[in-house]
Amino acid sequence: MTTRLSQSANPEPVREKSGIPKNPGRRDLGLRATLVFPDRDIVDRFYVPIIYTACRTCYSEQDPDLIFRRAVDGDFESQKMQKLISSVIESVHGSTIEHVVFTFAISGVSRTLSHQLVRHRAGVAFDQQSQRYVKFKGAATMLPHSIAEGDPDLRERYQEQVDGALGLYGDMLGAGIPGEDARFVFPNATRTNLVMTTNLRALIHMSGLRLCTMAQWEIRRLFQLIRHEIFTVSPFLGSFLAPKCVPLGYCDEFNNRDGHCPIRPHKDRVLEAWAEKATAAKAAGRALPVANA
Ligand SMILES: Cc1cc2nc3c(=O)[nH]c(=O)nc-3n(C[C@H](O)[C@H](O)[C@H](O)COP(=O)(O)OP(=O)(O)OC[C@H]3O[C@@H](n4cnc5c(N)ncnc54)[C@H](O)[C@@H]3O)c2cc1C
Repeated sequence: MTTRLSQSANPEPVREKSGIPKNPGRRDLGLRATLVFPDRDIVDRFYVPIIYTACRTCYSEQDPDLIFRRAVDGDFESQKMQKLISSVIESVHGSTIEHVVFTFAISGVSRTLSHQLVRHRAGVAFDQQSQRYVKFKGAATMLPHSIAEGDPDLRERYQEQVDGALGLYGDMLGAGIPGEDARFVFPNATRTNLVMTTNLRALIHMSGLRLCTMAQWEIRRLFQLIRHEIFTVSPFLGSFLAPKCVPLGYCDEFNNRDGHCPIRPHKDRVLEAWAEKATAAKAAGRALPVANA
């Protein structure tokens, strides 16, 4: 992607055509994310109490098992528990939210997506459909909307290429070539299934990166579905799943220096605003407070 800032006296950023694919909006991409564990009852009954116990233990003389029992028995107001949990999460005291996990069944995503997803290492486990052991009789593929809605000739050639690859795969299996070798011909568009279990800290981190408008459209959609699933079991916990700029208060993405994504101001603008404020304060004979080293 090429983004350039104007060099003229007017430093307004000039926006060139973005290379970032458009958000597919509400189009059905044929991918699914289902929260298979826990259900709403378990989250209501235990998840907030577990996190609250982890937080309170840090600041309390009480035994953690007593705190937990009292939390489950409703001795503490739910709002009070949520307030402490929110402030601890906002302070990035992250270990407290590693005590609860969520398991998702993810299906129909492309290998392009799964390759990105499994790059996350900390606090997350994956199991993925094997292309060695599964003999795909009708491998399904993902059609990006830019191709679906673009030049019909290119779309036809894309489809021929994908169909050709899958046809060759079938022929190779038929000729006795093992699946683990025949799969070399599969395109990135090939759909796949995974099970993902993640603790809440990792889920918030992944969502911060993948709900960002700079993320690739398919993985962004996946995390929109994941966020929806968490909201159905806990609007409170779901509220922490947001693009990373939301808790940060600014955007740190290099490719958004032109500010085309308006969710939060880019950090360059924040620093510029701070510099202007400092200059104005100096001119008025005041100095803005600076942190002592
Ligand atoms: C928009 C976008 C574009 C990307 N483009 C590319 C690309 O072009 N090429 C490419 O290769 N990748 C790319 N990635 C992948 C990216 O570099 C990360 O590998 C991926 O997002 C996993 O995130 P993470 O490193 O935070 O890992 P996670 O496993 O989610 O780790 C969570 C956090 O734990 C800490 N942590 C984890 N492991 C370690 C460790 N070994 N040492 C120290 N701290 C650790 C870090 O603080 C890390 O942020 C892209 C990701 C995004 C979101």
